[in-house]
Amino acid sequence: MSFDCQRCGACCAHFRVSFYWAEADDAPGGTVPVALTRQLSPQLRCMAGTESRPVRCVALQGAVGRSVGCGIYAQRSSSCRELQPGDEKCLRARAAHGLEAVPRAAISADCSPS
Ligand code: SF4
Ligand code: SF4
Repeated sequence: MSFDCQRCGACCAHFRVSFYWAEADDAPGGTVPVALTRQLSPQLRCMAGTESRPVRCVALQGAVGRSVGCGIYAQRSSSCRELQPGDEKCLRARAAHGLEAVPRAAISADCSPS
């Protein structure tokens, strides 16, 4: 049992999402649309909207904690791909947005009569 990312989006509205500059599509083989990024250093870029507070990635669509989607899902960076539902960063982001730390179905399963 895990979290439903399409009903969350907290990590896309909590962390600075940075990655090696050549993951952007102005480099050979890069995929992340460069117009949606910001330069952080000669080596690093981040998703626009995650470099300042309040954090919200420019590619995030919808309402956090309700219904969300990534507008560049197939082109997202390695940083986005590495974060997994239920891992430490996921739980930190969810807590920051007031979302529960245990998947909903697991809560009801635990409480259901046996
Ligand atoms: S915080 Fe966790 S559950 Fe929410 S979108 Fe990110 S990975 Fe998915
Ligand atoms: S690119 Fe997509 S997955 Fe990555 S932070 Fe932005 S909305 Fe989230």
